[in-house]
Amino acid sequence: MTATDEPDSGGSPVVYDLDSDCTVEDVETGQRYHATVNGVVDYGVFVDLSDSVSGLAHESTYDGSYAVGDDLVVELTELGDQLGETVHVEGEVVQIKQTGGPTIFHVSDETGVIPCAAFEDAGVRAYPEVEIDDVVRVTGMVEERDNALQVEVDSLDVLEGEEAEDVHDRLAAAFEERAEPHDVEPLVEWPALTQMFPDLEEVAKQLRRTVLESRPIRVRHHADGDGMCASIPVQLALEKFIEETHQDPEAKRHLFKRLPSKAPFYEMEDVTRDLNFALEDQARHGQKLPLLLMLDNGSTAEDVPAYKNLAHYDIPIVVVDHHHPDPEAVEPYVDAHVNPYLYDEDYRITTGMMCVELARMIWPDITEELRHVPAVAGISDRSKADAMADYVELAEAEGYEESFLQDVGEALDYEAHWLKYDAGRNLINDVLNVGADSEARHRELVEFLAETAEAEAHLYRIDVENHAHRFTYPAPGKTTGEIHDRKVQETGEPVITIGYGPDFAVLRSDGVRLDIPEMVSELNEEVVGGGVSGGGHLVVGSIKFVPGMREEVLDALVEKMADAELDEELQSTTVGHEQND
Ligand code: MN
Repeated sequence: MTATDEPDSGGSPVVYDLDSDCTVEDVETGQRYHATVNGVVDYGVFVDLSDSVSGLAHESTYDGSYAVGDDLVVELTELGDQLGETVHVEGEVVQIKQTGGPTIFHVSDETGVIPCAAFEDAGVRAYPEVEIDDVVRVTGMVEERDNALQVEVDSLDVLEGEEAEDVHDRLAAAFEERAEPHDVEPLVEWPALTQMFPDLEEVAKQLRRTVLESRPIRVRHHADGDGMCASIPVQLALEKFIEETHQDPEAKRHLFKRLPSKAPFYEMEDVTRDLNFALEDQARHGQKLPLLLMLDNGSTAEDVPAYKNLAHYDIPIVVVDHHHPDPEAVEPYVDAHVNPYLYDEDYRITTGMMCVELARMIWPDITEELRHVPAVAGISDRSKADAMADYVELAEAEGYEESFLQDVGEALDYEAHWLKYDAGRNLINDVLNVGADSEARHRELVEFLAETAEAEAHLYRIDVENHAHRFTYPAPGKTTGEIHDRKVQETGEPVITIGYGPDFAVLRSDGVRLDIPEMVSELNEEVVGGGVSGGGHLVVGSIKFVPGMREEVLDALVEKMADAELDEELQSTTVGHEQND
């Protein structure tokens, strides 16, 4: 900001006197404000416009001198207008990155995060005494780099004591305010879901605060249709918010990562990989440790060993899931746990439905892009909610007929299967038509994928526990049988259905020549430590195995089934893989 003479003779006649509650959102570039000096430095004066709005008037913009407590009138100028000018930034260091040239300090103040480049010598760490979370005052010239602003550092001082505390308090108050989620009207009137809004708002606030603090966010989501309908909107919302708050064009890539989890829980392999990456990013890029956001996954006792692994580090965990939870096992390890079962609701409220609202609370401007997503999520997870009719209607109003929504769900599941451990970002955005740039390509791609999935694959894997109704223990055989019969009827083609739980699987097949007792004895030999037993008839049966070995056993089982011969009249199709739930 610049100091101006008062009273103003020729320019804007209005000088605003801000209420003490006013925030940085209430002030406007180019307007004039009454201010009070709160500090004097060589190069100018620091002024307060209200309790939370303050700034610096550079000495070049006024004549004479000011003392602490003096009143003056300032005109608000923005960093953006100051390309080529010397500025002063007070804030917290949130990242320190050593490049082959300068050292880049990312400094966070009330308005956002700006990279400040300090050069000691090529590849040599400048200001080695400065650490992450230090409060600093930076003076330097604003320059443009990669279409974004950065400050070329002339001087960088670590603030101590009261001075540091003041800046810290100012920032904390500003963050608290900026982290506030947006009020959104639910997409459909559905009390079962809207009762969860306060919990979802808390999560939205924590995620926004995490972005403001420049802590990276890592999402792990179930690798299926609903998991993608949950994670893609949240990704889009958070990336928009990161773009708004960070000058560094690379911030989006560094601060957000999304990865699918093949197993319906957080596997040791995944957590080890995530932790390893986080520690490497910390060491190599001077980043903070991430927050872990579990979507459509993460609510069960099976996740606890992985959470225990993270508990040794400063890595907060947030879970939004609709799988039958074990709150007592999970909650000691997580900061937030949102799950419909905790409201006496159940699986019919899918994670995609919750996360579309969560994404809108973070960044409401993307609402138009998301109206069809809850319907896809519900169809993918076979939600029996009454609200499905409203969601489908909402999607139809956007030009998505119900059969096409079905195709989108199938295409997502099909791609989830083949992507395996890869996020497949742009591909999935095109399939779901969220953050995609061609509607025509979306249509063609979905039709192609849905057709391909249908022609080659009728092997269904069902997590039967997800289909349990409230207060009733699942009868796995019955649930699997019901779904299987429906699939046989729908497709008129060979179908194998595997309904599985933590330590068992129920098998049903039609039009395929299986020998289940034979497969069981082969699996028992081939999957070491799997403890496979069981049997049944040739084409209907059940197997038991050691709980921790589920993925290995099911993968081996699926491979065997893919090799099975089809009954002759049905040989025009081949058995491949299709994964559901
Ligand atoms: Mn789901």
